[in-house]
Amino acid sequence: MDQKTADVSFDSLLRIFTVPEGPDSTLTQIEAKLSQNLNHFLREHIVAEEKPLRDIEKDFSDPAIPEQPQFVSDHTQHLLDTLVSHSVHTSSPSFIGHMTSALPYFLMPLSKIMIALNQNLVKIETSKAFTPLERQVLGMLHRLIYSEKESFYSQWMHSANHSLGAFCSGGTIANITALWVARNNALKAEGDFSGVEKEGLFAAMMHHGYKGLAILVSERGHYSLKKAADVLGIGQKGLVAVKTDSNNRIVPEALKEKIVELKQQGIKPFAVVGVAGTTETGNIDPLRAIAEICAQEECHFHVDAAWGGATLMSNNHRHLLDGIELADSVTIDAHKQLYIPMGAGMVLFRSPEAMKSIEHHAQYILRKGSKDLGSHTLEGSRSGMAMLVYAAMHIISRPGYEMLIDQGIEKADYFANLIQQQADFELISQPELCLLTYRYVPKNVREALKLASPEQQDKIHQLLNELTKFIQKRQRETGRSFVSRTQLNPIQWALRDTIVFRVVLANPLTSKDVLTKVLEEQRQIATKVPSLINKLNEQCLAIQSAPQTTTSN
Ligand SMILES: *Cc1c(COP(=O)(O)O)cnc(C)c1O
Repeated sequence: MDQKTADVSFDSLLRIFTVPEGPDSTLTQIEAKLSQNLNHFLREHIVAEEKPLRDIEKDFSDPAIPEQPQFVSDHTQHLLDTLVSHSVHTSSPSFIGHMTSALPYFLMPLSKIMIALNQNLVKIETSKAFTPLERQVLGMLHRLIYSEKESFYSQWMHSANHSLGAFCSGGTIANITALWVARNNALKAEGDFSGVEKEGLFAAMMHHGYKGLAILVSERGHYSLKKAADVLGIGQKGLVAVKTDSNNRIVPEALKEKIVELKQQGIKPFAVVGVAGTTETGNIDPLRAIAEICAQEECHFHVDAAWGGATLMSNNHRHLLDGIELADSVTIDAHKQLYIPMGAGMVLFRSPEAMKSIEHHAQYILRKGSKDLGSHTLEGSRSGMAMLVYAAMHIISRPGYEMLIDQGIEKADYFANLIQQQADFELISQPELCLLTYRYVPKNVREALKLASPEQQDKIHQLLNELTKFIQKRQRETGRSFVSRTQLNPIQWALRDTIVFRVVLANPLTSKDVLTKVLEEQRQIATKVPSLINKLNEQCLAIQSAPQTTTSN
């Protein structure tokens, strides 16, 4: 394509701020196709076959900022060819490994309005109606969790000096914010000590005579909590893992013991995190039991419901999160099960006073007594994402979300049953919400495992781990479907490191037929590693031909 090149002139610069693209331009055509049929557009433009990352990197290797401007249409074509085509088709019904999935189409044009308005939620001068809108969204989520009376919300939702929570870019920032509030409340000003926010951790420790601080969470806690412990000066060792049971839920007795143990060492456990939907298995901690322990110990109780919090939308399933209303704070990601584009996290606090401990005012921008949201957020400039949550709440409505949540849970149940009916698949974790894990185990290997000694089981497990890795990777590369992969230590396998497939069934377009095909494809791929299958067969033969010395587990 040898064509005119764009020139650098102020006139052409003015044009990109004003005149829309012509009716035949690539950009205009893309926009038309996007609004006509988004799924079709994505299917057409994302190539299925995986290109090695090394090759893709070649397209993105020039560090020089171009001296020569490009026409918008030309550049758009370039993006389609190099970027869009090799992105991940997260909204495909057969891509069932992600926590962020398909988006309702109405969010695309609405996003465009949001971007065009370019409001900055840090302060009211640059956001105006977006500020009360965001406060209402926080109020809606607060009410979904805590069900306070109408008078509570009319008193606090728009109160300049209070805050029901914070909107942020995601669960990580939400968790950091919650623990930041908890830390500052635990080390607040008293006597001649003016609070950790002013004097820092060292002075706070000296003042209280603590040797350290601790946050407790189950072994299945999300890695964002490690980041939180790090940036809050507590240290990753201060994030203490508590034992889980066979359903990946924290053991309350073990939590109590850990707290006693820490206190004996002079360490202050100031927060406990309950997980409502673990990232790896989707299980929910016994929140009510944790709340009781926190009340006794005067610990901040935070619930990380980044993924599972949306379950509260379903009156049929919200009981699974029983006790969440006792939490001091709760993280919910709207960009997971609320079907909002990435960049929408929230943390809610039961008490409208809680966030006072992190309040910041800047002379010129965040005035005391103003309704500026920036005085209670870790982030500074922030977009109007809350508008998309607001729109989805109205357009989908609570009963609509209920259907979305329920269909996911039903589908996970269906898939779990389907897996259990197969002679050559093993369900590793039962779904509690719409997430489950499993692996492929050839039939003869399953039989042999029953007779195997612990040492023989170890060997077989290692081979199966390699097989699972191979199948997952090949399936992803082939590009027809995608499941993710994680490592668990299931109690039924004596806590052995076990690599598993992990699926999240949130996409309403994922049909039962798709699920059957995913299993068929995995079974097919397994036949493509004869070396591994042969090794497994050898192990089986050795076990089955040995004299039967039954080892009971
Ligand atoms: C996803 C997730 C997070 C982190 O959220 P981001 O939006 O990725 O920052 C934290 N906790 C849990 C349980 C999650 O599932």
